[in-house]
Amino acid sequence: MDDISSTIRKVEFWLVDVPLTDPFVVATGARTIAENVFLRVTLSNGAQGYGEAAPFPEVGGETRESCLIALHQLGKAILGHSAASYTDVGRVLSEQAHSSPAARCGLETAVIDAYCRASNIPMWQLWGGADVRARETDITIPIADLDKTVALARGWYTKGFRLFKMKVGNDVENDIRRLEAVHRALPGIAFIGDGNQGFSRQDCLEFAQGVKRFGGTMALLEQPVVRDDLDSMAAIRRETGIPVAADESVRSLADAHEVVARGAADYINIKIMKTGVAEAVEIASYTKAAGLKLMIGGMIETRVAMGCSFSLVLGLGGFDVLDLDTPLLLANDPITGGYRYEGSLLQPWSGSGLDMKSALSQNITTIE
Ligand SMILES: [Mg+2]
Repeated sequence: MDDISSTIRKVEFWLVDVPLTDPFVVATGARTIAENVFLRVTLSNGAQGYGEAAPFPEVGGETRESCLIALHQLGKAILGHSAASYTDVGRVLSEQAHSSPAARCGLETAVIDAYCRASNIPMWQLWGGADVRARETDITIPIADLDKTVALARGWYTKGFRLFKMKVGNDVENDIRRLEAVHRALPGIAFIGDGNQGFSRQDCLEFAQGVKRFGGTMALLEQPVVRDDLDSMAAIRRETGIPVAADESVRSLADAHEVVARGAADYINIKIMKTGVAEAVEIASYTKAAGLKLMIGGMIETRVAMGCSFSLVLGLGGFDVLDLDTPLLLANDPITGGYRYEGSLLQPWSGSGLDMKSALSQNITTIE
């Protein structure tokens, strides 16, 4: 495929609202509806690709409004570029709107999807196809009262989930009680405790101690403290002996350098919505080279954005912990095709690009 035939000719985007089955409550905020933006890019050869922007103000500082403003500007900026040079497109987007990572991510995903469709390869092939097999994801249990917490966990357990990512960080005593109740109810499970920056160092140490006391298995402590408190992250690793994952602390490659230099984490949680796709690939390579482990997650995303993340898992390899569950928390699935969930497993796809289709909205913004 030559460069001219893969020129970006048209960018379309529209709002997608998907209700959540249960309120998604974390230490820094709550959501009842995923308020995202879908995008479609058309190349001069007619190939089309989809993308999704899932702004999450507490992590990226982006609202849907600011994301839409960025998309108007960025959509124009990429017209005429070649989709084959998708890393250059990522760089152009980054230079123009570094503080709009979700908008950049949606455009990059759509460009890469279109390019893969035109090239007739699955998106994971583009990244190397290093580890193409079904993979297990954790399941997220939001902050809720004790009964609700256990009921949600039990429901997922029945479907085969064994790694429970517990949202914590608001109230140490209550967090310990919630985990203990789930631990007592469900045999053979492990926890990720995701503090979303809500703990102090002392809180987190008490939390880890409390979980140890009742015999719970804590696989990972994710972003226990505020993003720039890397000293506490390092201390928590040392003092608990539990691996720590940096999520909010890593919103760029430069952040990843800092986390590594300060010994602040065992894992880096890659999210395309924090950095865009090209930079996520760079951070993943750097993380592996630095000897840290890889986790991958998302904001509250449908299978469009999450399919792109799963393509990185399948293509790049080396991801130990998958937190690719948010489509399961949504009341409906606005797309067809692509990867599938079977219980806690994500099943790879074999069609080109993301191999997905979305119905178009009545209300589309078109840039051409
Ligand atoms: Mg997190």
